[in-house]
Amino acid sequence: MDQRKGRRLVLFPLPLQGHITPMLQLANILHSEGFSITIIHTYFNSRNPSNYPHFTFHFIQESLSESEASTTDLLALVALLNTKCLGPFRDCLARLLSDVVEEPIACLISDAILPFTQAVAEDLKLPRMVLRTGGASSFVVFAAFPLLRDRGYFPIQDSRLEESVTELPPLKIKDLPVIKTRDPEALYRVVNGMVDGAKVSSGIIWNTFESLEESALATLGQQFSVPIFPIGPFHKCIPASSPSLLTQDQSCICWLDKQAPKSVIYVSFGSIAAISGTDFLEIAWGLTNSKQPFLWVVRPGSTHGSEWLEPLPRGFLEMLDGRGHIVKWAPQQEVLAHPAVGAFWTHNGWNSTLESVCEGVPMICMPCFTDQKVNARYVSDVWKVGVLLENGLRREEIERIIRRAMAEKEGEEIRGRILCLKEKANHCLKQGGSSYEGIHNLVTHILSLEA
Ligand code: UDP
Repeated sequence: MDQRKGRRLVLFPLPLQGHITPMLQLANILHSEGFSITIIHTYFNSRNPSNYPHFTFHFIQESLSESEASTTDLLALVALLNTKCLGPFRDCLARLLSDVVEEPIACLISDAILPFTQAVAEDLKLPRMVLRTGGASSFVVFAAFPLLRDRGYFPIQDSRLEESVTELPPLKIKDLPVIKTRDPEALYRVVNGMVDGAKVSSGIIWNTFESLEESALATLGQQFSVPIFPIGPFHKCIPASSPSLLTQDQSCICWLDKQAPKSVIYVSFGSIAAISGTDFLEIAWGLTNSKQPFLWVVRPGSTHGSEWLEPLPRGFLEMLDGRGHIVKWAPQQEVLAHPAVGAFWTHNGWNSTLESVCEGVPMICMPCFTDQKVNARYVSDVWKVGVLLENGLRREEIERIIRRAMAEKEGEEIRGRILCLKEKANHCLKQGGSSYEGIHNLVTHILSLEA
């Protein structure tokens, strides 16, 4: 440990919840290994540094206009951040490198989806590693984008959605990780930039574990000549509260305490996904008609055209008579670990998927865009630890799928399999486990980069 003290790492997250969380978790892991940590962060979605007294924060002015910062076009936002951060990031990193008072910087660890940092790091002669915050299986698909485009899968045609992607079983065309955007070419630019930037980096860190994504990791090991480090699940490596952009409503834990074991369906679609008013109502009625108790996270602004719960019919909440609890943001990891939770209706963001696996909670999958679609297919068809909501978002279908996941034999089998995966997740972090060893290898690798 002593040998490592006196080395600093500079980490640069993409400033979105699902990316900030794993980057700060990684920072905690590396800090506990003896490295000093500097975080470069945009003012956009900035953190309160006083919550992280053991890290040094430097904020950069990315100069997003109000409309740019509040856009619902996620891809446009990512593309903008990759352009607008360039100057301020380079200046900040150059300043840090010229600071002789601080410890020498061993390397930069940037979110893979900020590939502009590769050229900056090369210019400043600093090794750059990347953190890919999504899973390895979806990265295999992103890496195959040029091939898929050549073979005519893109742009996706509505008439072909149910066809298999023969190169990437068990994916169907509808599972390909795309997102609605004003400029379709931007999707290929962002994805190819991420993959190419990772290929020439000094190594890729993954928030996943070997026995979950063995085959995808093996494929990536063959396709990429840089070292890869699957060292997750991060949130189980070091117990620390998760950084949250919204305030967590703790009332849901008291409410869960009053519910029967494994009876509650927890519903949350993460920090970005939004749904239509019609879908919102179908979800409300589907949950009510299922007769299961439910805890539902409705993020303000996550239903098009509404601020929060306005689309609910008058008297809806009273009618539930305590059987449903709605919050704006939940302490999700605590919720999933609660004995009352029996299933997680999720959008299958990678963090949510991993958190559910780690607590052995079966999933009802409703992916919205990008890698969520691949994750959901893996949950339902490969790991078989969840059911996929594929036949439209109608209340009868919702009721039916909740029964499949929670009440029928299929649900029991799913629970058995996810408990098995939970065991594997626990095992990989113990001495001799793949992620435990992976962290050790990562530390050795980082120290070798300076030579
Ligand atoms: N989360 C939370 N409270 C909520 C909903 C989500 O703390 O009410 C956290 C969740 O634990 C996860 C993150 O937000 O760590 C969401 O990340 P994910 O990759 O699942 O989805 P994204 O928000 O990026 O779409």
